[in-house]
Amino acid sequence: MNIHILGAHNCESQNLKLVSLLIDDTIAIDAGSLASSLSLSAQRKLKAILLTHQHYDHIRDVPAIAMNFALDGATINIYSIPPVYDNLTTHLLNGELYPKFLERPEGKPTVRFTLIEPYRAERIEGYDILAISVNHTDPTVGYQITSHDGKIALYTGDTGPGLADCWGYVSPQLLITEVTAPDSYEEFARRNGHLTPSLLKEELTVFRELKGYLPPVVVVHMNPRLEKEIEAGIAAVAKALNNSIKLGYEGMKLDL
Ligand SMILES: [Zn+2]
Ligand SMILES: [Zn+2]
Repeated sequence: MNIHILGAHNCESQNLKLVSLLIDDTIAIDAGSLASSLSLSAQRKLKAILLTHQHYDHIRDVPAIAMNFALDGATINIYSIPPVYDNLTTHLLNGELYPKFLERPEGKPTVRFTLIEPYRAERIEGYDILAISVNHTDPTVGYQITSHDGKIALYTGDTGPGLADCWGYVSPQLLITEVTAPDSYEEFARRNGHLTPSLLKEELTVFRELKGYLPPVVVVHMNPRLEKEIEAGIAAVAKALNNSIKLGYEGMKLDL
């Protein structure tokens, strides 16, 4: 399994992109920078987009991807939970801001949306997918993705503390999660459903107690203004837990 981090931040600028992951060139998780990071031919290789939640930094490029598929007469499969469907159809692809790509063209809409249920195993494009519920300000799911050769990666999406309930359902060989802010922002992080290095440490400690191991960890969704402080905090956590924990970056490629 090859995982390409297209966007690793919660803000966008010339060189920083919103969160998007690309797996084996065909499955995307989140679409914050999916169109802006991929050529048209790379976009056409996409078979499915899994969305974690409705926030703009995770769905931003859905309209652009849909337009590119529409102009090619192609269909893109999107999977997520009901609130994401509702927000896409109500606010983005609503016939006012942009075309109703979930309904048009009639009979063969450009976007084929499938609702996902947490903890119900799905087979999507040859991968076993398990959505898990995480703690964020709005309903959010992470995705465990298992390839046909048994490689397992888990991406939590945006999440605050309290992942212990999820750990029993997953066995990742690689964990991609979020650390939005440094320890000095712990109150902000708790209030807004995000992690700091110390809050991540607590989650990983529980994981190790429950599962008896820790996978390598890559963190994304950093606030770039606070990245130096986050990086120092992550280095300390990696040392304390004696585990590989790295900051993701745009263009990072991970092989499983
Ligand atoms: Zn969010
Ligand atoms: Zn976010």
